[in-house]
Amino acid sequence: ESSELFFEREKGILIVISGPSCAGKGSVCKIICRKNPDLRLSISETTRQPRNNEKHGREYFYISKECFEKRIEQGQYLEYATVYENYYGTPKDYVENLLESGFDVILEIDIQGAAKVRTNYKEGIYIFIVPPSMQELKRRIEERGTESKEQMEMRLNCAYEEMKNADDYSYIVINDELEDAAQRVQSIITAEKCRTERL
Ligand code: 5GP
Repeated sequence: ESSELFFEREKGILIVISGPSCAGKGSVCKIICRKNPDLRLSISETTRQPRNNEKHGREYFYISKECFEKRIEQGQYLEYATVYENYYGTPKDYVENLLESGFDVILEIDIQGAAKVRTNYKEGIYIFIVPPSMQELKRRIEERGTESKEQMEMRLNCAYEEMKNADDYSYIVINDELEDAAQRVQSIITAEKCRTERL
């Protein structure tokens, strides 16, 4: 009698969560990671200043512009993008090593970044998180209150344009109630992991 497993996946699955600013991507990812100990959230590098409640190595690795540009030249990023005048990038080795070791990895990145990743990882799961309405988005951006008035305007205008990218994604999740939205993302991941072509 053989102890060989019928179906065994060797490599992890890449899950890309994107959507406009303040759609609640970060909060959804936090819930998903709490519920899936085998899932790893990739921590990006950025040249943005940390917000008051943020910690180096937890939300991001905060690095200088010079350092970021050097790392671009060295090919250290799986993708990077300029978002609201700052660089953001996904560390390549970190993500690839996790996938090779069999861990599923979540990237929480902007729409430009997701488009770049899609060219190399067609088999990834691409989920677009959206706020229920422009009005609600405006309320959330104002409520967070970490940005200046101009920055809030910029994020709001960008978000409106960014909504047009929804068609590029396999899944759209409307973030009306955070726990419900997280539950829907969880269901998508669970179903995707059972797909014939992934086993
Ligand atoms: P925030 O400044 O609010 O933390 O993030 C601004 C935007 O940058 C969000 O849409 C966030 O998803 C995105 N972002 C965070 N990390 C990365 C990354 O590594 N690459 C890209 N392309 N976008 C990122």
